[in-house]
Amino acid sequence: MLLYNTLTRRKEEFVPLEEGKVGIYVCGPTVYDYPHIGHARTYIAFDVLVRYLRWKGYKVTYVVNITNVDDKIIARAKELGKDPRELADDFERIFHEDMAALGLVRADFYPRVTDHIEDIIRLVEKLVEKGYAYVSRGSVYFSVEKVKDYGKLSRQSLEDMIAGARVEVDKSKRHPMDFALWKRAKEGEKDVAWDSPWGRGRPGWHIECSAMSTKYLGETLDIHGGARDLIFPHHENEIMQVECVTEKVFVRYWLHTGFLMVGGEKMSKSLGNFITVREVLKKYPPEAFRLLVLKAHYRSPIDFTYDALEKAQRSYRRLANAAARLRAWIQEHGEGEGVEMEEERRLLEAAVEKAKEEFFEAMEDDLSTPRALASLFTLAREVQRVDLNDAGVGEAKKALEFFEEAGEILGLPLMEPEEEVSLDKVKDRLLSLASRYGVEMGKEASAEEVLEAIIALRADLRGRREYGEADKIREELSNLGITLEDKGDRTTWRFV
Ligand code: AMP
Ligand code: ZN
Repeated sequence: MLLYNTLTRRKEEFVPLEEGKVGIYVCGPTVYDYPHIGHARTYIAFDVLVRYLRWKGYKVTYVVNITNVDDKIIARAKELGKDPRELADDFERIFHEDMAALGLVRADFYPRVTDHIEDIIRLVEKLVEKGYAYVSRGSVYFSVEKVKDYGKLSRQSLEDMIAGARVEVDKSKRHPMDFALWKRAKEGEKDVAWDSPWGRGRPGWHIECSAMSTKYLGETLDIHGGARDLIFPHHENEIMQVECVTEKVFVRYWLHTGFLMVGGEKMSKSLGNFITVREVLKKYPPEAFRLLVLKAHYRSPIDFTYDALEKAQRSYRRLANAAARLRAWIQEHGEGEGVEMEEERRLLEAAVEKAKEEFFEAMEDDLSTPRALASLFTLAREVQRVDLNDAGVGEAKKALEFFEEAGEILGLPLMEPEEEVSLDKVKDRLLSLASRYGVEMGKEASAEEVLEAIIALRADLRGRREYGEADKIREELSNLGITLEDKGDRTTWRFV
């Protein structure tokens, strides 16, 4: 299996350190607010990775940390007049609830920073002992000038970093890029401070991940991930903190997800442009959101719109309906139904084989879920097209088994759609499509009538050999979940 490694900027064959076992650490949430769908994008990407590696037979240990002490938590608690620990506990619980609602597999460990202060202090002590860190005014800093390869993950020199960052003058630091391993407690931060050899204080953000990841997964991790904003400085710093102590490779494969964007900007708490997971799940099933996420490759950005989510929901229904059709037919026809038509049997058999091959080829290629999904859509179309009576029980079962297997890998259970979707749902959009082609129909027309009028219009265009325009209409209908089939000069349609 190939995975794109941010460190080498290449797709590499994935080989874990220990045969058959994989350790994965993904940077978890800072718990001071509701998780938004940008977070969900990243965790869904790693959820699919974990599911797929397990499907391949690896024993996976999956670790996601919980950052429950942080400047942002302290600031938020102050704002709300709450105890910072209580605030963090509440949002930690909410994080788990929301991730469960999204259908994510649980991680094997969710280490909290506050439960690992001892481990963190020990790691900072080692860095001080080895001369990579220094104590200054009750805080401890990592000295970036002591190492040669600082910047190897983000591929920048110290000069680039200084030029790229808004560096504040800080007299406690020897070099502007030095970063805090331990932060001295300021006035009013007594509730969130611990005793240490350097006085009362709390850990820096980067050191917590170094300490907790190696504690649960050993000195070398197979996979470490997060969204791409973490490449620098967070992951860059994590590397230094571990490698300077162990003198071993910290992470074999660095994986980074692209952002979920809104209106061209990264969705983030600080920009205030976020939509919470709860908000989306109030209106859409988790499968619709997951399908929207998986339609993009995990390294690509996603432009979130409700329109795209609507479309993803219809795509999901298309898959679920195909699986439902197979399930219903198998239930009715039971075992051993004789195959009537060799040709139909072969057709479905070939479609399943091809879909399987394409699906796994895509997953092996750096988890190309867009291609994996495309193979499922093709199969769904074929399942709706063939006469199952002719294809036979054996083939129908094979197709269903594959849908269920793929659903398990992608975390996309292909169950019966909850509600029967009717064409009425897209009636307004059909009306506006008709109107754009100069066909005005009143509100009293049924959705079927509007669709028939559009099909007649398209037939007309085809009659005049304006195939480009006719194809455009077919495409627009397909975006609404309507598939047209031309048989001679008759056109039939199917919804979802
Ligand atoms: P945070 O709680 O902000 O530290 O984020 C938790 C995880 O979600 C980190 O891996 C972030 O990089 C990731 N993340 C935050 N915002 C987005 C976004 N808009 N798109 C994708 N991932 C994100
Ligand atoms: Zn981290």
